[in-house]
Amino acid sequence: MPTETINSPADLELERAGFYWRARGDLRALSSRALDEAGFANAFSTRAGGVSPFPENDLNLAGFDEDAAENIHENRRRFLSLLEGDWKLEACWQVHGTQVRVARSTEEPAPDAVGESERCDALTTDLRRVLLGVKTADCVPVLLGDAPTGACAAVHAGWRGTSRSIVARALERMKDEYGTRAQDVVASVGPAALSCCYEVGAEVCEVFKENFAAGADSLFTPTRDGHALVDLHEANRRQLVAAGVRAENITLAPLCTMCRTDLFFSYRREKKVHGRTGRLLGVVGRR
Ligand SMILES: [Zn+2]
Repeated sequence: MPTETINSPADLELERAGFYWRARGDLRALSSRALDEAGFANAFSTRAGGVSPFPENDLNLAGFDEDAAENIHENRRRFLSLLEGDWKLEACWQVHGTQVRVARSTEEPAPDAVGESERCDALTTDLRRVLLGVKTADCVPVLLGDAPTGACAAVHAGWRGTSRSIVARALERMKDEYGTRAQDVVASVGPAALSCCYEVGAEVCEVFKENFAAGADSLFTPTRDGHALVDLHEANRRQLVAAGVRAENITLAPLCTMCRTDLFFSYRREKKVHGRTGRLLGVVGRR
């Protein structure tokens, strides 16, 4: 397994949080030990080690309207090479909704499927060697694995998806399709815009108060008038616990995409400056 020596204080913090780096050359991705141990290959990508001009040598893994398809395919090939064996990647056209798609076939996608035209924000399967992927650049990627049934899920949870409890909907779908019990699920929440940086307006606070169970206020830290910092990691963690996932089975990557634009793409930091930004992938699959 291509892993790097853990040797800096930041890496020790990651190690304590239950993560380690997979790396080869400039390429690196973050993996959850608990998901590995439950039988699920998994990785959260970084921007390092690719071929896209964002501005250079960036590992952009999606966004066919903003990058050349050959760049994205080469970057995906490199990223997937960090995981052992052959995998078929399944992704979708994300729309900040709450649809959960079940990946049922290992058939190769049609050649024109590069746009990942099915609209959904979470994917689940129990098929082996199928890698479920969600694209993010500040939104929260959540990966779920259920060892007893072999089912897993990848969830894209921005503020809209989080406010509508998309992780709970993904768990519900795993239960319906595969008989998953929440207490068996291991969850890993990846790098995202965290509460140090992610400021939202009053309309977002209002949506959370309407859609979120009691305690929405404690997810917000007021800043300037009509604005607050929101903690989407904590919001997703609470939803997982409320759905029956054991707190000790949930790991949160202590990395903020807005603080660490050296490592990650950040829509909020980069879109204004460059007019575009790359996309990260969070992936999980049954070995
Ligand atoms: Zn930050």
